[in-house]
Amino acid sequence: MELVWESGSARSPGEAAAAGLGLPLGRVILVGRPEKCLSVIPPGHVLCFQWELFFGFQGLFGVPELSAPEGFRVAQEKALRKTEQLVQRVCATPPGPQTVLIFDELSDSLCRVADLADFVKIAHPEAAFREAAEEACRSIGTMVEKLNTNVELYQSLQRLLADKKLVDSLDPETRRVAELFMFDFEISGIHLDREKRKRAVDLNVKILDLSSAFLMGTHLPNTIEKRLLPEGIRHHFELAGDHAVVDSLRAEAPDDLVREAAYKIFLYPNAGQLKRLEELLSSRDLLAKLVGYPTYSHRALQGTIAQSPETVMEFLEKLSDKLSERTMKDFEMIRGVKMKLNPQNSELMPWDPPYYSGLIRAERFNIEPGLYCPFFSLGACMEGLSLLFNRLLGVSLYGEQPVKGEVWSEDVRKLAVVHESEGLLGYIYCDFFQRADKPHQDCHFTIRGGRLKEDGDYQLPVVVLMLNLPHSSRNLPTLLTPGMMENLFHEMGHAMHSMLGRTRYQHVTGTRCPTDFAEVPSILMEYFANDYRVVHQFARHYQTGQSLPRNMVSRLCESKKVCAAADMQLQVFYAALDQIYHGKHPLRSSTTDILRDTQERFYGLPYVPNTAWQLRFSHLVGYGAKYYSYLMSRAVASMVWRECFRQDPFNRAAGERYRREMLAHGGGREPMLMVQGMLQKRPSIDDFVNTLVSDLDLDFETFLMDSTSHEKSRWQRVHMQALLDTSLKKEASPFVPLKWRHKESSEHSTLRTGALRYDCEGGRCFAFPNGARGFNDLQTGRSCYGVLISGTHVLWE
Ligand SMILES: [Zn+2]
Repeated sequence: MELVWESGSARSPGEAAAAGLGLPLGRVILVGRPEKCLSVIPPGHVLCFQWELFFGFQGLFGVPELSAPEGFRVAQEKALRKTEQLVQRVCATPPGPQTVLIFDELSDSLCRVADLADFVKIAHPEAAFREAAEEACRSIGTMVEKLNTNVELYQSLQRLLADKKLVDSLDPETRRVAELFMFDFEISGIHLDREKRKRAVDLNVKILDLSSAFLMGTHLPNTIEKRLLPEGIRHHFELAGDHAVVDSLRAEAPDDLVREAAYKIFLYPNAGQLKRLEELLSSRDLLAKLVGYPTYSHRALQGTIAQSPETVMEFLEKLSDKLSERTMKDFEMIRGVKMKLNPQNSELMPWDPPYYSGLIRAERFNIEPGLYCPFFSLGACMEGLSLLFNRLLGVSLYGEQPVKGEVWSEDVRKLAVVHESEGLLGYIYCDFFQRADKPHQDCHFTIRGGRLKEDGDYQLPVVVLMLNLPHSSRNLPTLLTPGMMENLFHEMGHAMHSMLGRTRYQHVTGTRCPTDFAEVPSILMEYFANDYRVVHQFARHYQTGQSLPRNMVSRLCESKKVCAAADMQLQVFYAALDQIYHGKHPLRSSTTDILRDTQERFYGLPYVPNTAWQLRFSHLVGYGAKYYSYLMSRAVASMVWRECFRQDPFNRAAGERYRREMLAHGGGREPMLMVQGMLQKRPSIDDFVNTLVSDLDLDFETFLMDSTSHEKSRWQRVHMQALLDTSLKKEASPFVPLKWRHKESSEHSTLRTGALRYDCEGGRCFAFPNGARGFNDLQTGRSCYGVLISGTHVLWE
């Protein structure tokens, strides 16, 4: 089986507040395309493929109405009519499992239009389509609001859930879905008296308005009078008349002063935005209390892995404590570099870590993306994924030619996901290439959820993966940087979650699961993407066919651990801030004071007066009280990797268990039960914390193995040690190669390559400006070559 991706042209997350009926409107999983896709279609599959062709799917995603923008109106009207029939039907049906089935069908008929429209409104290149989709979203949204307050509809579900005998007779998935529908209903206050119900409806509307206003405010630039900026850095900013416009933190700018100015100006508090945030938080609190929860966080966390705000805080506090020593070391290292480069102003400030840690990574590991790209052509990566899924899960990806009008851009590829014995599982549309006006984030969109239909057929899931890869050119295939490759794996993790789910109800299809579980399958794929045994299977130089050397993979993996404790600590701080904001109200002080205290407690770098980072914290909208989810998902993914796949990433039995225990259930099962089923034990908060922290350990074993497995003879090991000893005496910082050249070129001759040469015991050493090291044995004339990976270790090739 082979997937050919010729491209002639082109990791978290948001959950829209579509209250009620649990319609996952706009549920977008964050995270990340090819010209002509040739494929081999398996025998059983041809029939299905031709059947679809025969019926001439002409519209978007094969929906016949959607061959033109006007079709959205037809589709939405059809959906609304069907909804009305289903509402009548469910109200007339005696309570039982049938009630849940009809509810799900009702939700399906609306979601199928709304989810599709949600995607089209942001991704279609034609404005007419985008506008028609927008309109469809609005009209379905109005319908959803109406249904949320339909008492008769509510009562039909309530009759079922109030009857204990009936509830006990339901299978666990049906029961869970019934409870989820009810949970969504209750946020509209439908179970309350008239006066309270009205307040709940008003609060929902207010929260929706405040959310979009706050979200908009998080991106607005701040301006400052030009004359207030130091003259030397003015040209770094966009100027408009007498003012400079600052639209981001400029976290990667090499000039300390530029970053400092950007930080202070971009984060300067805006009174309107501050008021919007405070109102948003207090309205959420009021609504949660109105519908029976002590805080907004308590409501938001129901049904998640964490389950309660207390558990989330325990997780964050323990993680913070365990990280703190490593974080301090990271800060010290960053401070050391800053001091060398900027001795006058070496205090470490919040605008420093991202820039300096990037610098240290690049200097130490020589991980220039250009060195890796040739090994990661899109075709090779897709083949790698297909091979992995095949060995692990018995699943293959086949490129299928879309029917005319089925895709929104000619470079979109359609993949059929086929199981070796079960046949076609679903479709993934790969919208991988850059295009004007395309959203920049890498995303997974559910277009149609999987569900068991009344006639016994299974409605196959359909998803879109959106990435922003460069187009290939005449001589060059699309080449991915290591980061893009990892994102591709991440997004494919979401897609496989959707494809392998076999839930009875679309309400809990694939990624429609609790937020802190949703990133587990995608982050798990990142572990595969970073494992040499997996990468080795597909990473080939597109010209020479040479495999990506093992030490390049190790170097990449180890580079990610540089300052990783400080990075994680920052995430802990954000997550803790989000919990406190959505915890007990009224808040004990202003949101800015809370930010300052939480930053000191959970991060460690000083708060900068007259800044208010929280006003730029856009995830407060989509992830209210759930920002911790990414960390928790990572912890679970790490445990699953360690326990089930680390020993053998192609272990079919583990793959099958993974599907059976985790992927198959979507959101239809309590997430902790899925984790427990997979790990065969119930992990504790300490387990989560320990696994996250162990992931930060440098893997020196790999390097040792590396140098021995590559037939390094003993003499090399001995001389390497000599080289290390010698070079260490000369080194004090990761920037030595550069400093060395300047300071000591008088003592040591400099080669044309820019390398330094000096003699040491038994041979001659070279230090290249990029951190690479060489050693030439004078007796044997043999030489070896390596890369400095930390202050004390050289990785030899
Ligand atoms: Zn993701």
